[in-house]
Amino acid sequence: MIDAVGPPPIIDTHTHLDDPAFDADRAAVVDASRSVGVRHFVNIGYAPDRWESSRELRETHPDVDIALGLHPQLASKFDAGLMSELKQAIDVLAPVAVGETGFDFFRSAPSFDEQVRAFRGQLEMAASRGLPVIVHQRDASDELIVELENWPNLAPIVLHSFDGTQRLAEWARDRGCYIGIGGLATRKSSKSLRELLARIPVDRLLLETDSPYLAPPGSASRRNSPANLPTIAAALGPLWNLSGEELCQLTSKNAMGLFGLTDGN
Ligand SMILES: [Zn+2]
Repeated sequence: MIDAVGPPPIIDTHTHLDDPAFDADRAAVVDASRSVGVRHFVNIGYAPDRWESSRELRETHPDVDIALGLHPQLASKFDAGLMSELKQAIDVLAPVAVGETGFDFFRSAPSFDEQVRAFRGQLEMAASRGLPVIVHQRDASDELIVELENWPNLAPIVLHSFDGTQRLAEWARDRGCYIGIGGLATRKSSKSLRELLARIPVDRLLLETDSPYLAPPGSASRRNSPANLPTIAAALGPLWNLSGEELCQLTSKNAMGLFGLTDGN
């Protein structure tokens, strides 16, 4: 997978290219990303309408793969009907992972009970199918550890756009979780986050943008894009004594193994 010439392969393991923020120029964003070396995009469908738009995107883009789940901020919608819809979507559309799911206690709603029910339902779907689970976590490091301790036999866990406590970082390292890194960690205010990330082994790192969110500082637009990944990799590589190119190579290998991606699919 290493090119003799041209940019190193890059995989954006967490993007929302189906977001309306890209409606006006989606094709141009995808082309610009490909031209800087982005080889695969994992588009995260986090709500029922996004499952469909993710599917459409994959249908027209051979380098797009999808994950399907329900975002924790939408957990109050997770009733029996939606659970069976999601199961069916997973079985029919064959995503590379379940998610993003998890815990988000930044706001007072949805309630803890609603988030637990939705998270457990999705962990069960991932476990029974042997699929990786992509976890969103905000202000919930301890609760996340408690819950995931109940699931010792999950396929790999991805902590996307990692922003947890030292305790969660250490737990994740012991558990062998994959850690998503992107624009957030490049911010000036993220010094302590960078210190935690530097102790994560390189074979567990994944590059991601979470675009259109989390634009890195200094980027031309407030809208993030997978085309920013070379800049993000160059900024973060030194945490592991790597160049940006080396970080791209390593994280691409990690992502391809984790999600079962093949070159040229
Ligand atoms: Zn996301």
